[in-house]
Amino acid sequence: MTVVLALDVGGTKLAAGLVDGEGEVLVHDRAPTPVSLDPEVLWEAVVAILDGVLAHPDAPVHDGIGIGCGGPMRWPEGRVSPINIHGWRDFPLLERVRDRYAGGRPAVIHNDAVALAVAEHRWGAGQGHDHVLGMVVSTGVGGGLVVGGRRVDGGTGNAGHVGHIVVDPLGPACPCGGRGCVEAIARGPALAEYAASRGWKGPQTGIAVAEGARGGDPSCVAAFERSGRAVGLGIVSACALLDLDVVTIGGGVAQAGDLFFGPLRRTFDEYAGLEFVRRCEIVPARLGALAGLSGAAALVLDDLS
Ligand SMILES: [Zn+2]
Repeated sequence: MTVVLALDVGGTKLAAGLVDGEGEVLVHDRAPTPVSLDPEVLWEAVVAILDGVLAHPDAPVHDGIGIGCGGPMRWPEGRVSPINIHGWRDFPLLERVRDRYAGGRPAVIHNDAVALAVAEHRWGAGQGHDHVLGMVVSTGVGGGLVVGGRRVDGGTGNAGHVGHIVVDPLGPACPCGGRGCVEAIARGPALAEYAASRGWKGPQTGIAVAEGARGGDPSCVAAFERSGRAVGLGIVSACALLDLDVVTIGGGVAQAGDLFFGPLRRTFDEYAGLEFVRRCEIVPARLGALAGLSGAAALVLDDLS
């Protein structure tokens, strides 16, 4: 049995686990990401969680290491500067993990959204398709690409950044430095801000706005319409460029279900003209809470087979 030591580094939580070749998480643990500007404090938290998983009484010996981490990063070297982890700038995460845990076995890192896309293609909602865009719509909007059955990296490991397709040239400033990107409009915080700007008085969180929308609050409904529409427009462009079979969408905003997917699909139907664009299916991601670990493992499985 092939076993991968998987690490998933996010802005709010760290997760580690041992994952088999079918994507099943055998043993895992999670911990909050420390809020620290000291890179070594963050590293010690990673060591603690990896050591904990490896010390588990049921832990099998692993064959390689896969890491998903928020971007941007220098790739494939794996020097990371995650937007939401301020203590790491150009931090040599892959090298550190490899030196301490690999013992000559392969170790691979990628953007966490790429890891999720690869997992959805291999085991989730994209299974059986060769041309897949895997998206995450939450605090940010991320994505990864599988084309012709293979992961697409691009020139610097950054292919698939669907969140920074421009869908409104006059739209709001984006955290990336651009303007009117899908992420600037569709991400959870933008959605909550928009609802508040239209009169929503509840908490400015995606979950609260989703509850408001389910209760019929027009500001909250409008915020989901705007978010879904931006993602729908981005997907039309992605499909025109890549002739995709399926787009999978996970993340907190997508959890709102029809509130989000309804306007998204209406927009897609309105703007997608060409038959090869219209054929693309847009579906919720299927892998659950441990998808980040399965995805991190998937990154290295091709190197192990
Ligand atoms: Zn952007």
